[in-house]
Amino acid sequence: MNAHNLLQTPIDYLKGVGPNRADLLRKELGIHTYQDLIHLFPNRYLDKTRYYKLKDLQQNSAEVQIIGKIVHLKTVEQKRGKRLVADFIDETGKMELVWFRGQKWVRESIRLNTPYVIFGKVNWFNGSFSMPHPEMELLEEHEKSLRTAMQPIYPSTDKLSKAGITNRVINKLMQQLFIETGGKFYDTLSEEIKAELKLISRAKALFNIHFPESAELLSRAQFRLKFEELYYIQLQLLVKNMLQKKRIKGFIFEQIGNNFSEFYKEHLPFNLTGAQKRVIKEIRSDLGSGAQMNRLLQGDVGSGKTIVALMSMLIALDNGFQACLMAPTEILSVQHYQGLVELCKELELSIFILTGSTKTSKRREIHEKLENGEIDILIGTHALLEDKVKFKNLGLAIIDEQHRFGVAQRAKLWKKNVLPPHILVMTATPIPRTLAMSLYGDLDVSVIDELPPGRQEIKTVHRYDSNRLKVFKFLRDEIAKGRQVYIVYPLIQESATMDYKDLMDGYESVVREFPMPDFQISIVHGQMKPADKDYEMERFVKGETQIMVATTVIEVGVNVPNASVMIIESAERFGLSQLHQLRGRVGRGAEQSYCILMTGHKLSEDAKTRLQTMVGTSDGFEIAEVDLKLRGPGDLMGTQQSGVLNLKIADIVKDSQILQSARYYAKQTLTKDPELKAPENKMINFTFLQLRTNKNIWNYIS
Ligand code: ADP
Ligand code: MG
Repeated sequence: MNAHNLLQTPIDYLKGVGPNRADLLRKELGIHTYQDLIHLFPNRYLDKTRYYKLKDLQQNSAEVQIIGKIVHLKTVEQKRGKRLVADFIDETGKMELVWFRGQKWVRESIRLNTPYVIFGKVNWFNGSFSMPHPEMELLEEHEKSLRTAMQPIYPSTDKLSKAGITNRVINKLMQQLFIETGGKFYDTLSEEIKAELKLISRAKALFNIHFPESAELLSRAQFRLKFEELYYIQLQLLVKNMLQKKRIKGFIFEQIGNNFSEFYKEHLPFNLTGAQKRVIKEIRSDLGSGAQMNRLLQGDVGSGKTIVALMSMLIALDNGFQACLMAPTEILSVQHYQGLVELCKELELSIFILTGSTKTSKRREIHEKLENGEIDILIGTHALLEDKVKFKNLGLAIIDEQHRFGVAQRAKLWKKNVLPPHILVMTATPIPRTLAMSLYGDLDVSVIDELPPGRQEIKTVHRYDSNRLKVFKFLRDEIAKGRQVYIVYPLIQESATMDYKDLMDGYESVVREFPMPDFQISIVHGQMKPADKDYEMERFVKGETQIMVATTVIEVGVNVPNASVMIIESAERFGLSQLHQLRGRVGRGAEQSYCILMTGHKLSEDAKTRLQTMVGTSDGFEIAEVDLKLRGPGDLMGTQQSGVLNLKIADIVKDSQILQSARYYAKQTLTKDPELKAPENKMINFTFLQLRTNKNIWNYIS
């Protein structure tokens, strides 16, 4: 049997495993085969060259390793169950070892007055040390076993440790695996890449990750394996993107016709920024390429994505197609609708809006007009996704604020025409480049990284609740100048009565502080009927109310240029990206705008970092990077997508440089040899196909 087949052997066959352990390994760690075990990488390493003396133990020592003997064993009855206690000594002192579980087994297997090496965490209580559930090995065995300075610590679970599958057992199994396979693992990267990056062989890397021969070899092993993991993810994403382009034909929009040209020459309300021009060019070239466009457009709040969307839709129209724009909320859809109607008023276009609250008769009219092509642009909420909504000829679908829609919804839009329409996804939540590369490696990405000119920096400050009176005074001054104000309360869960009460208490205190008739106050929250929400929102938009008390329902997209102050209550309870989104609601007009972050005095370290970041920068990408560091990628993207980052050894945040390099090399490989047919890429091709069929870390690639 060659080494490769051997690795597919079920784990049950490894000496020392047996049916029970095999079952646990499968269930708890997902280890089914030899190969899976080899890929169980340690979480960390401990310095095992050091043996402690009992007299040198510190109250807050981490895990320690001690050589000594058990001189006495006794069972101690206690209120809840029994515990087994051993007196353990070395030549410098004495401590207790304690077991709460597995006592029978310990009692039967332990040899008194025989040298052991014990390992574990010590507790300090009532003037003496003890060690619960130590790992133990006879000194004699310990000296024989394959052991290195850096002792790997493997991921474990409660069930595993209860069943006695300790770190030491895993270590033993790993040794056994290397013995049975002879440690001969084929390489998966080309000689060229290995040479350029000075990578050690895969076999050497796998050995050193489990049995480090030196600190240097360990770090080279880690580098090599991280690189490999990221390289294959990138390769997979790039190949997917390539195939998509080849396989999925798109409508070809060759013409730049009247609508686009006329709008560009005569009706543009402002000069486009350089970034907007660049992005429109990128989109134009996609639309003319013959392949279906799948593009992600990232641009910070206020960067001017709407005009890019409109101009892309005009290209579709010029080529005889319809276009649609989908937004996550009713309010946003209405705003887009009004904005686009205004922008296009000189063009003869038929623009309609369809949302959940569209009347049945109107709905019917829209359905009909869509099907016979009388509607050019349809704007709306996910009402657009309903089966009844059929286009005559949908050529381009735009989704605003991607993070509110799932991948499934993107796919639904595809089915709205014989050929899938071109898709443009727009998001204002900056996704750090590293993350975008892994998540959207199959989408092309455009970035608007420049704000329209004349935008003023929003002054952001952090104030404690105890300064509330001063803040209110400031608000009165701003309102006196004719400005409008948002006051936002956290409503982490729309259903949580607790949060809701905060909001209502807040509202009442605002009403007291800013009494009628001098002040008019709106309130909007998720528990209101949509019609009431819209009514209140409308009053604020028209300037009939000066203060908008709201929950995060206003977070996305709302545009009221005259609103220049954003107060965020209990700001410590919001995540960074949410704070940034909220702040983006102001600073949309010509006036100096402010964002005031209100908190109590008790703040966690993370909360402090978030507040400092907000005060320190308004760059969405910078904020996203900090967010990623604080929260980790899974959280950032929401649970549905967190599986994406289920990496075995690399860390998307910490290893972003390796990721960049992996992407670079994956691109190079494919540029030189798109079908991976060249002899020097034989192993790459083999591994690539292998990973596809095995579907281990690749499950997420839909
Ligand atoms: P977002 O990217 O957040 O969707 P919008 O498209 O709503 O941003 O644009 C925000 C504001 O900036 C709008 O009022 C829009 O008219 C204005 N705007 C967009 N592009 C420019 C530009 N190039 N010059 C001046 N103002 C612009
Ligand atoms: Mg927008």
